[in-house]
Formats: sequence, C-alpha cells, structure tokens
Amino acid sequence: MPDRVLILAPRGRDAAIAAELLGRNGVASVVCDDQTALVAQLDAGAGAVMLTEEALTVGDQDKLVAWVAAQPSWSDIPFVVLANGAKTPRSPVAGERLAGLGNVVLLERPLHSEAMIGAVRSALSARARQYELRDAADTLEQAVVDRTRELEAARESLQIALDAADMGSWDIDLKSGDVRRTPRHDEIFGYTEPLSHWSVDIFLDHVDPAERADIAASFDAALTDGSLDIECGIVAADGNRRWITAKGRVRYDGDGNAVRMTGVVSDVTDRKEADAQLAQAHKMDAIGQLTGGVAHDFNNLLTPIVGSLDLVRRRHRDDERTQKMIGGALQAAERATILTQRLLSFARRQALQPRAVDIGALIDGIVDLIRRSLGPLIAVTLDVPRHLSPARVDPNQLELALLNLAINARDAMPGGGSLTLSAADVVLDVRNTVGVQAGRYVRLVAADTGVGMDRETLARATEPFFSTKGVGKGTGLGLSMIHGLAAQSGGTLHLSSEPGAGTQVELWLPATQDIPDKIGEPRAEPVTARRAASVLLVDDDDLVRCATADMLRDVGYTVLEMRSASQVLAMVRSGMDADILVTDYLMPGMTGGQLINELRESGVRIPVLLITGYAAAGKDVPTDVPRLAKPFRQVDLAARVDELLRCTEPGKVKLKAIK
Ligand code: ADP
Ligand code: MG
Repeated sequence: MPDRVLILAPRGRDAAIAAELLGRNGVASVVCDDQTALVAQLDAGAGAVMLTEEALTVGDQDKLVAWVAAQPSWSDIPFVVLANGAKTPRSPVAGERLAGLGNVVLLERPLHSEAMIGAVRSALSARARQYELRDAADTLEQAVVDRTRELEAARESLQIALDAADMGSWDIDLKSGDVRRTPRHDEIFGYTEPLSHWSVDIFLDHVDPAERADIAASFDAALTDGSLDIECGIVAADGNRRWITAKGRVRYDGDGNAVRMTGVVSDVTDRKEADAQLAQAHKMDAIGQLTGGVAHDFNNLLTPIVGSLDLVRRRHRDDERTQKMIGGALQAAERATILTQRLLSFARRQALQPRAVDIGALIDGIVDLIRRSLGPLIAVTLDVPRHLSPARVDPNQLELALLNLAINARDAMPGGGSLTLSAADVVLDVRNTVGVQAGRYVRLVAADTGVGMDRETLARATEPFFSTKGVGKGTGLGLSMIHGLAAQSGGTLHLSSEPGAGTQVELWLPATQDIPDKIGEPRAEPVTARRAASVLLVDDDDLVRCATADMLRDVGYTVLEMRSASQVLAMVRSGMDADILVTDYLMPGMTGGQLINELRESGVRIPVLLITGYAAAGKDVPTDVPRLAKPFRQVDLAARVDELLRCTEPGKVKLKAIK
C-alpha cells in the first residue's frame, strides 16, 4: 500500500473534501479520525500523510513523532501539511511538532487544488522510490546472505577435504606478514592449541638445521616462480621429529608484486618411514645377493680344503705331529665354514635343514654352554612352558642363533645383569603386526638388562657387518644371520630396545605338528663302502670334484668324474652304468635339478645326492632328493651315500637309458 495517502484533518469536512479531491485525481486515500488511528495505518504502510496544521495542535502528538523517529533507515514518510496561511500565526507547539515530522512540504491555505495534487503526487513518487530502494536493499541483503551461505558451504567442503587428506592450510599476506592457518596446521608443528602468531621464520625454526638454508631459499624462490613445493624434516614443538610437505601458490597484484602465498601442509612421516624401510630392505637384499655370491665361492674353496685335510689325516694316522697340524688346519677351516654359513644365512641362501625341533630340549641342551660363556655376573633364567609346540627350523642354526643372542647380551652387560630366555606358543591372524603370515608360531625371546640401543643402532643392528663393538671384537654378522635364519624359516626377527632399558630380541618361528626327532651324535669315522658300488660324480669345479672323488674313493667306492650335466646325459645315452649319482647344483649349461628331471623323464631311476652351497638352489630339484651342504666332511658324505645305497637293492636300479 505504498501509494495511498493518509488524511488527518479533524476540522469540519476538510478531510472528506481532500479525500474526494484525491479520489478524483486517482489517488487512494484513508481518512484517519485521530493520531492513534493514523499511527495504526502508518504501520500498515502508506505513501504520504496529508494533515492540517490544526491537527498538529490537538491532542498528544508523541506517538506520531515517535513513529517518525523509529522508521527504518530506508524510510522517510513525506508529510504534506496544509498550513493556516499568513493570516493566522503558527503556534510554538505547532512549529515544534512540525519539526518533529522531518520530511514536510508546507502548503499555505488557501490553495489551489492543482497545487495540492502536485504536492501529493511528488510526495508519493518520492515515497515510491524509498520503497524501491528498500526492495533493492532487501534483494541485496538476500544476495549477501545467499553468497555467504555458499561461501560457507564451500569453505566447509574445503575443510572436510583438508581434514580427509589430513592437511593443514595456510595463507600468508605478504604485505602485512599476517598468516592465517587452520588448527591442523599448528597441530602438525606439535602445538595442541593454535598459536597466536605464525610466520615463515617460525616455520624455518622448526626445520632441521641442516635443511634450513635450502628451505629458506625455496620460500624466496617461490615469490618469483609462483609456486612452493617442499619436503623437509622438522622438530615439532612436542620434540618429535616429523617429515612434512608444504605446497603453495603465490598471487600477484596488477603490478606484478607478490601479495599472497596460500597453500597446504601435511605430515608425511609415516610414508617416509615406510619408504626408508623399503629402501633398507632393498639395500639388505642387494648386500645379501653380494654376500651370498661370495660365500658360495668360499664354500666351493673350502670343500676341497676340508676334504683333502680329512684324507691326509686318515692316511697319517700314526704321525702325531701331522695329526696335530691337520687338526689345527681343520679347526681353522671349520671356523671359515661357520663364517660362510653365517654369510649365507644372512643372504637366506644357506642350505638349511629345517625339521621339527623341540625348542625346550634344544634350550636345555645349550643353557650350560650359555651360562659358561656369560660368566658368574649374569643370571640366566629360563621360562619355557612344558607343552610347547615344536618349531620348524634348522636346529644347528638355531643353537648358533641363541648363542649369538647370549653373547650380544653379555656384551651389553659388562657389569653383570640378567638374561631371560623364554618361549611361548602364539597364534597370529592375518592382521598381525609382526609381519608374518597367519598361523601358529613359537616365539622365542631373549631379554637382557643391558645398556640397550639408541634408535640408529636399533635400526641398523641386523645389517651385516654393522657392529658397534670395535675392530676385532664384533663381526656384525650375529643378528644379520639370525634375521636371515628367521626369514628363511618362515618366521621373523623383531628387536625392541631403548638406551638404558635393556634389549628384547624376539625370534618367531613357525610351529609344526610333526614329531621332533632326536639329534643324533655325529659319527667320528666315515662309513666305508659296504659293497663295490660305482658313484657318478658331477661338479664343474675341478677342485671340489677332485676332493669329493678322493673322499669317496678313500672309503672304497669307484668314482666316475664328470664336469657337466650334459656330459652325464651323453654318457647315459651311450649305455654307461653307475649305482648312485652325486651332483652339484649350480653348473653352467644345466643345473643339477634339470639333470635329475631329465634323467627321470627318460625313465632312469637312480639314487641321487645333491651337494650344494645354496638353499635357494633347488626350486627345480624334486623334494625327495637329499642334499648335503658344502663344505662337507668326509664322515657326512660317506654316511649319506651309504644311506642311499642301503635303500636300494644292488643291481636293481642302474643308470641305464630305457629306449
Ligand atoms: P656384533 O655382535 O658382532 O657387533 P651383531 O649383529 O650381533 O654384531 O649385533 C650388531 C650390533 O647390535 C652390536 O654391535 C650392538 O651394537 C647391537 N646389539 C646387538 N645385541 C644387543 C644387545 N643385546 N644389547 C645392546 N646392543 C645390542
Ligand atoms: Mg653379536
């Protein structure tokens, strides 16, 4: 109703005349009897008020003046006041009230109707503009509300996305130096409560001192390059070391001056640690391959040395001096064998002979040796349940591993302390944190109360040749060998330690339901041939082959030596005879495994013994083929050949091509 005129003219017929006049000119109007009625109509909306001067003087005008004063900012209702004219002077009350109305057009009476209509029309059109402005302001306000809501929604989505990505965001005003951040930003830097102030300098203070200069340079360069992309180590306020990445973009003003830099920061410590572990694993693998190769060559060298020494000793049985010298040489060779075994076991290429082992019995068997090696200052305690599952592992290697652990514990407790060896059955599911397949395991723990290890030592302890013990004291092969043994056996090794808080070494081995067998006493003398049998021996290494042949001949076998698998095949095809085949694994041209398969495919049945320095050797070797690890002693070789020959009746299986 912005176009209606409210009329207040209490005297006589004034109001009716005015209303009629307005009506004739197409202007709607409402006649109000008094000010209370007028105010009520004003509340409903009006285009203008027409009133007579005398209406101002009667009654209480406060309500009207209050209404005028309380109008919203867009509104200023126009009053067309019909004044008394020059003949009647205005009363002071009327003057004062007139001033209170604000937007007033005074028309002196008597007046021409045209003049009155003109004044009313212009008041109405002014009022109409006020309404238009109000509507425009309303639309604008609504638009602002809508935009704000949109922005808020966008901001909220951005915040959710940042949270999901676990990122903090930051925004630097390069002119004022103000930096706005999300709470997550400050949290990444180790602040539980957001800081009141932040700056690039505070950021740089957190950066690892070694990287600080480079990172500062990256910030500088970003101002010209337009983008920042950094990754660095920080020391957070809580003292923790973390890895973070920060990426940002720079905005410029019209003159090309950098004005803002905005971006995100995230904590990438977990990824970095995983990367480092992977790199470490790759490194270990590379070292393993190298070590494995070297150790394999050493085994090939040791085989003829040990073999020849064995033979010489048997030939000069009565010469005490020679016996002593050879004994010394054999001992040294034995030590060299153990060393190469450790190297191979680290490389996971050791010819392990895993079988079901009663762990409790094994520990009982060596605890005396451990107590003796550790001395009276160190108390050795056992905690092994009576009904423990057998574990599948090479018992000799496990003994060696436990001895190594005990010696490490001794070295960590120069002033004495205690070592506890415990074992337990543990069932792991797929989600285990140990990093092994789901299944039943026997967990062996060696816990000492020694000096412990710092983070760096702990991280590198299983690396081969890593030792903190000084030249001549440690080989650095103990833990690496155990690590290899555990992994190759299908288990794992886990170390936990802190400086001053001792060390716990966990050796996880797969449990088995097989019945553990008793480990037999080693024989002192080699078994001699129980019948005249011929051995077909193939090895590409002349020294190894000769020594092996000598060992076999010494106990009474006939030996046919060959240099390659293809030579064997050729001889078989031409009808050669033998009772047993002793073959090396890794040979140029064709492996021992391929040879065995080739022979079996052409229908040849002959007992075979595989001699090898590699455990990995042998994916292509049938599982029923027994193995002997290089370097071997004559006793062991003779025993194996004897066993194999005993299982087969003479004359029944012969190396003969069936074609
Ligand atoms: P080595 O004993 O020859 O030094 P190891 O592979 O057995 O080699 O151990 C590597 C390193 O790990 C040791 O030099 C030592 O720093 C640390 N270490 C191993 N076991 C312990 C332990 N029980 N307590 C403290 N440190 C240990
Ligand atoms: Mg050691």
